[in-house]
Amino acid sequence: MLPNPGHVTQTTPLTVVLPVYRNEASVAELVTRLEQACTPLNIKLELLFVDDASPDNAHEIIQKLKSHHPTIRIIQHDRNRGQQEAIRTGLKNSNSDYVAVMDADLQDPPEIIPSLYQELVDRQVNAVFAVRSNPYQSTGRMNTSKAFKWLVRQMVNLPKGAGCFVLMDRAMVRAVLGFQTKRFYLPGLICKAKLTISTLEFEREQRIHGTSSYTSAMRLKTALSNIKCLLE
Ligand code: UDP
Ligand code: MG
Repeated sequence: MLPNPGHVTQTTPLTVVLPVYRNEASVAELVTRLEQACTPLNIKLELLFVDDASPDNAHEIIQKLKSHHPTIRIIQHDRNRGQQEAIRTGLKNSNSDYVAVMDADLQDPPEIIPSLYQELVDRQVNAVFAVRSNPYQSTGRMNTSKAFKWLVRQMVNLPKGAGCFVLMDRAMVRAVLGFQTKRFYLPGLICKAKLTISTLEFEREQRIHGTSSYTSAMRLKTALSNIKCLLE
């Protein structure tokens, strides 16, 4: 049964914020699948790509897609600032009632957005995390990721498996931007906001196109920055 959120009309838009760095191979399929997945919601959709100074052809490809897909908007960083800053730019430039954030490499399946939406409406919460229930990367990466998330959980009670695949209402977007921290770490700030959250399990896909843009050194640097953000 497709969700029927009731009060939602064409004038209640949903923005999907999509940080882009080296995603030229996945953006076309991403747009098709997102538009298809969100059609049953009967909600005005905006796909907000934030090009984080991607060195591949992602920007040109998205510009081309934009001419056939009026749902698309694209913003460009003047230099590479990292995933979290790209997300912050997307949130700052959104003004819709609901905002979803997800990766642009199709590891986060667009098809679960209607279920996230249904959960948010049914439970009347301010955010729903899509939580990963399966191992989706190498054992080494899974373990370091788990250790980092454990630490975050001690600080702000981050739900297990939660990351940057999340749907928020406007109150939550306002709250996370309101922290005005030097650094930005979306999952942590959502938990710090002291609004209501819920979770929905999903199977994260293995990456099909290319490899993760995070080297081990970048992962460590990002983890430290994320922790510092929560201490600011
Ligand atoms: N990303 C970004 N800037 C960066 C690195 C990554 O905007 O400097 C985006 C990337 O395009 C993707 C998301 O962040 O949408 C997650 O990146 P990736 O898939 O490389 O990381 P992983 O899945 O390994 O955590
Ligand atoms: Mg990925």
